This record gives sequence, C-alpha cells and structure tokens, in this order.
Amino acid sequence: MNRFVAAAVAGLIATSCAQAQVTEDDIANDQTITTQVVTNGMGRNLQRYSPLTKLNKDNISKLVPVWAFSLGGEKQRGQESQPLVYDGVMYITGSYSRLYAIDIKTGDELWQYDARLPEGILPCCDVINRGAALYGDKVYFGTLDAKLVALDRKTGDVVWKSKIENYKEGYSYSAAPLVVDGKVIVGNSGGEFGVVGAVYAFDAETGDLIWKRPTIEGNMGILNGEESTMTGTLNASWPGDLWKTGGGATWLGGSYDADTNTLVFGAGNPSPWNSWLRGAGEKNDGTGDNLYAASRIGIDPDTGEIKWHFQTTPREGWDFDGVNEVVPFVDKDGKKRFGTADRNGFFYVLNREDGSFVHATPFVSNITWAEGIDENGRPIYNEDNRPGNPAGAADGEKGDMVFSVPSFLGGKNWMPMAYNQKTGYFYVPSNEWGMDIWNEPISYKKGAAYLGAGFTIKPIFEDHIGSLKAIDPNTGDIKWEYKNEAPLWGGVMTTAGGLVFTGTPEGKFLALDAETGETLWSFQTGSGIVGQPITWEQDGEQWVAIISGWGGAVPLWGGEVAKKVNYLNQGGMVWAFHLPKEVASIQ
Ligand code: CA
Repeated sequence: MNRFVAAAVAGLIATSCAQAQVTEDDIANDQTITTQVVTNGMGRNLQRYSPLTKLNKDNISKLVPVWAFSLGGEKQRGQESQPLVYDGVMYITGSYSRLYAIDIKTGDELWQYDARLPEGILPCCDVINRGAALYGDKVYFGTLDAKLVALDRKTGDVVWKSKIENYKEGYSYSAAPLVVDGKVIVGNSGGEFGVVGAVYAFDAETGDLIWKRPTIEGNMGILNGEESTMTGTLNASWPGDLWKTGGGATWLGGSYDADTNTLVFGAGNPSPWNSWLRGAGEKNDGTGDNLYAASRIGIDPDTGEIKWHFQTTPREGWDFDGVNEVVPFVDKDGKKRFGTADRNGFFYVLNREDGSFVHATPFVSNITWAEGIDENGRPIYNEDNRPGNPAGAADGEKGDMVFSVPSFLGGKNWMPMAYNQKTGYFYVPSNEWGMDIWNEPISYKKGAAYLGAGFTIKPIFEDHIGSLKAIDPNTGDIKWEYKNEAPLWGGVMTTAGGLVFTGTPEGKFLALDAETGETLWSFQTGSGIVGQPITWEQDGEQWVAIISGWGGAVPLWGGEVAKKVNYLNQGGMVWAFHLPKEVASIQ
C-alpha cells in the first residue's frame, strides 16, 4: 500500500469513527435547535423554554412513558440532574458523582462512569449532582471531591481530571458546568465550611485553569497561571482576616448573557452565619456589607474580571445565599433585563448592561426580615428580626432567637425557574416556610461546619409549603399559584405549546396550563421528583424527560417540615415520554 492509499484509508477510518462534535454554535443556539439539549437550562440564558408546540394543551393528556431507566445500586439519594440530549444519546448525572450515557430510543445504558469518591468528602446537603455539560467530543461534570472531569462522550473514558479545590477544606462540587467559547466554567460549594467562593474557567481541551475569580473581597484572582487582580478592596466591607474564610460559595453555577458577553454567577452566604461577627475594617461592629457574599456578580468570560455586582442581602444573617439563577429576558418595553428570584423571598429585575437595580417584589408570603426593598435595591431591614448577638453569652448559651420568614432553605432554593417567551411569565418554584433561628459563639476550624447558628424550620400554612408561582416580571404580579403540600424542590420547564412542566416530592410529574396553572396531565413516577425536566424533538415527535429520586436538602434539614416528608420513598429513575403514535400522527 503506497502512502497515498494509506492516507486515504486512514482518512476513511477517521471519518467513519468520528463522532458529531458539539460546537460553540450548538451551545449558543441550544434554545432554538429543538432536536438537542446540550446545555444546562436548555440554553445558556437558563430560560428553560422550548419553542416546540407539538405537545400542547389539546393533546398533553395523552402523553405516555416510552421507557424508564434505573440509576441502580444502593445509592438512591436525591437526583437533581438535568438530562442532556445529543446525537441519539442522553447524558445524566446521578447521586454520588456518577454519570450515565443512555440510548435515547431504547433507554438502554451505553456506559456508566463512577467517580469513586474518597472518604471524608464534605457535601453540606445530600450527595447530589445537578448535571453535565457537552462540548466537542467530551462530556464534563464536577464531583463531590471538588474535581472537574472530562469524559469521552462515546466511551466514558476519562480524558482529563482537574482539581477545583481541596475537598478536605470543605470544598465540593455539584452544579452543572457552563461552556462558553471553549472554556468550562464552574463555581464551588462549601459555604457552610468557611471556604472562599470562586468562579473558575478551565480549558475544555486540556483541563488547564485559565482564570479564577474569588467572590470575597481581599482574595486574589488568577489569570494564565499568575496572580491577576484582587477581588474588591481589602477590608472595605469585612473586618480583620474574616475574608480568608468568608464563604460566598458559587454552588449553583451560572448563566451567560450573550448580548452583553457576561457570565453571571451568584455568591452564597457569608461565613459564618452569625452576622454579628462580620463588621467592616477596624470596626468589628457587625455593620459590614461583606461583599460579594449574597450577591450576583457579572464577570468577563475572557479574563475573569468582575464587571458589576448586585448584592441582594448585605450583612446577610439568615443563610439567604445569593446564588439563585439570573435569567436574561426582554421586558414589555423591549428592554434587556435579568430576572432572579432570591432565596430571601424577593423577585428582582436588574438591568442587563450593568446589573443595576430596576425593581423587586416579594414572591412568598409573610416575609419578616425586611419591610421591602428600597429604590436602590437595598433591603429595608426589620432589625428586630435579625438573630440576636451571642457575644457575652456564657458557654453553651445562645443569642436571642427570632422567627424568620422565609426559612434558611429559602423562598426559593436551587430549583430552577423557567421563563416563557409567549406568556412573558416566570414560573418560580417557591416554598412558604419560616424558622426559629439563633446565633451561637463559633470559631473557624478547617474542614468543620462554620455556622455559629442553630435553627428549626416550620411550615407557615396548614395545607401547603410548596407553591409554584407564575410571575409577571413587568409588575411583579403573581398571576397564578399551584400549591403543593410538601416543599417543592424540582426544576421547571415551559414551552410555546402553552405548558409548564414540574415535579413534586410526592412523585407527580405535572404539566400545567401556562396561562392559568390548571393541571392538564400528571404521572406518578414512583419516587419524589427533585430533578429538572427537559423537552426535545426526535424523529418528528416531541419528547419530555425527567429524573425521579427523592432527596436533597429538605429531608436532611427539615425540622418540623421533616414530618411532612418522612413517608416519601427514595428511588432513582429517568422517565422519557412522548405521545402514542396514533395520537401524534393526527397532529
Ligand atoms: Ca448557605
């Protein structure tokens, strides 16, 4: 065989073996390419909106399961993953940092990757994972021992593995990564262990760190292997050395606004929870804002520099992490806005150019800690509702206890909302609950919980905690509400077919009318749903999928709420649905 023939044969082999590559264009246009779901959020703007209309109000009642897939083993804990779909394969992550590739037509397993976690990992709130990312020929996900793993999409073989941080210091990872222009962008978890929050960009091909941006003032950033710039101004809003263990974990990942070329990540609670320890500069009097904890941060994706920030809860003292997803949308006047429903119970609209405040309205009832939000976006605090200062309390004694609404698990927690471009509403999965909360003396110890607070969660209504709300972002008006007895902990997805999909801890996968909230279809999945629904088009039909598997933070931290959920069974199944052929064919 001469070398020309050899080259031609090699080329043929390469062509026949080559798999389709997920491109930046695929990712950028994920919302409108309806035959795939290659991003967390069904688009990097996290709208979780599909333009598909094949499933609609007229036929949704006929929806049936096509296959189900078990995550197997004894590791049946909370399944919070959003499936991805590309080139005939569904990719899902599972509890204990596992990843599966499934044949989309048959539900057969193609391969499974198990991260084999070390002893001593420190996940705060169940051993969950919220999903993977696709780019090129790889699938990426983060693990509870704070590593980012790139796998070959075809085989599940490890291509590279990079350390995000040291898990022994309390760092972990559970969010879905975000891919922008060849960079895999992640945050970190561990705000209950006194870590320092940060956003990281890794090279998608090599796994090398390109930049790191800490979220707490005083900490240095990294760019191309060298120190870049300091985050904020040292001791401007933090006292002494507390910024070195200041929290602000970026544990929910981020969104990307292509119009302004901005990454938007939220930063969680400042550490410790006891706000009386966190003053400013020389004055350790509990008056520091503690930037950029409990904030949304706009970041330049090329350099990791901070472009803007908006702090929802300055001097945060109730574990109101500011991590909730920030969703770009266009308001009724055609203005480019962000919508975000904060854990503190207020729904904010921000200006996409600079993150500046537009307006805010409460989306849960009976908020106690603030009277409202002022014209600058700052809370009007009810100081009587701040947990008391434990300074001077004798050993084992607490500061004054208060009853605060929302509870520390939030008016909204991690579970993602959806935005429907047709109705113009956000669909926000919220919870109506409060807590007894008090502060306690605390000192930092590496790898140990760093709260300085105690709490008991309580319902505030007899008949429900969960409440899915349709919110008009132009006015903050709540257009309808779907009440659920147990706390809602799953994601939401909406379509141009006028539908809203979500699931309940009681196991129901629901399709609601996007205009009215009326239940149009329901399917019992066998375990509680804390996963995130998706929809896509395959062979001319519209499919829907959800992962069922009860768990997450609620059963771990539930207080009196635990009594409402302790009968729920664990599980771990992917369910895929479409219309029966005879129904689909008459569309
Ligand atoms: Ca927290």
